[in-house]
Amino acid sequence: MSALTFTPAATARRITDDERARILAAPGFGQHFTDFMAHARWTVSEGWTGAELVPFGPLQLSPAAAVLHYGQEIFEGMKAFRHADGSVWTFRPEQNARRMMRSARRLALPELPERDFLESVRALVAADEPWVPQPEGETSLYLRPFMFASEEFLGVRASHTVDYYVIASPAGAYFPRGVQPLVVWVTDTYARAGAGGTGAAKCGGNYASSLLAKNEAVSHGADEVMFLDSETHTAIDELSGMNVFAITRDGRILTPRLTGSILEGVTRESVLQLAADRGLQPVETTLVMSEVLDQISSGEITEMFACGTAAVITPIGEYRSQDGTWTIGDGGSGQTTLALREELTGIQYGRVPDRHGWLTRL
Ligand code: PMP
Repeated sequence: MSALTFTPAATARRITDDERARILAAPGFGQHFTDFMAHARWTVSEGWTGAELVPFGPLQLSPAAAVLHYGQEIFEGMKAFRHADGSVWTFRPEQNARRMMRSARRLALPELPERDFLESVRALVAADEPWVPQPEGETSLYLRPFMFASEEFLGVRASHTVDYYVIASPAGAYFPRGVQPLVVWVTDTYARAGAGGTGAAKCGGNYASSLLAKNEAVSHGADEVMFLDSETHTAIDELSGMNVFAITRDGRILTPRLTGSILEGVTRESVLQLAADRGLQPVETTLVMSEVLDQISSGEITEMFACGTAAVITPIGEYRSQDGTWTIGDGGSGQTTLALREELTGIQYGRVPDRHGWLTRL
């Protein structure tokens, strides 16, 4: 199959320069969208065709589109960063391309080849270049590739028509007032993913099923919810949108091993590498929640953090559950956590040498 070229079907901007400047002054997260979006369609008979860049706007969708009934949908999340010299870069985009292919396989969706994924992102960021914020205070252009079953058909089977889009949204600093440690609620009521399920795929259903648990967390004054494994309810899986790490007094950095029920975070993988670079011993293992809480109480675990594209690396200050409250360290931001965060964001914004070749210029 030949490579897709995302050809501009329109070049007129949807949003005026003044309005864009007003939005970029305080973008928030996921609230404002750029001028364009990338699109391609897959059909069972023709494969991927019709790649184009079109103005961002509402989609025409049959009320019988399969995605609205059976949730056959996947997505990705990544960022474009502007460096001080004005150039624009993404962080390990090939990892997102490959994860989207794995998600597609699990959801019986067509795999978009890596080169076409990368080209869709490149073409959109080129068209929307004025939307990439200046590199002050960790701002970026958040990129959201997604794919869904658009066939007008109510039978339960893999869709014969699938649409792929990339939309983009300017993102402000996740922590406008400095990094704030999270309070995490440990749910013993709900699970996010089961064995043989879709936990390792980035599909909408995983997030839909996390929302009630998130509400439960918020009702207990927490910011986020921790999911344990669905079989025994004892081992740490992950938060609803972030992987979890613990740092021990004796220099180990622990994270749940990939069991098939947690998402293989790009940030997770990068943190394991950066931690090893600075002499910590990475351990991918089963983290039993009760043992982790004991090690927090005894001071054996000194820091914990969550990580993902949106919040990068975020300290966890406290766990709450039906059984009590545990404060990690002094409840603030741990030194190693902040050092890893500084290094990762430094690489992303071009302030720290990219020794692992993680950046791609757009
Ligand atoms: N787990 C889940 C469930 C997520 O949604 C995310 C965000 N994509 C992550 C972990 C972190 O992944 P990444 O570092 O690739 O953003």
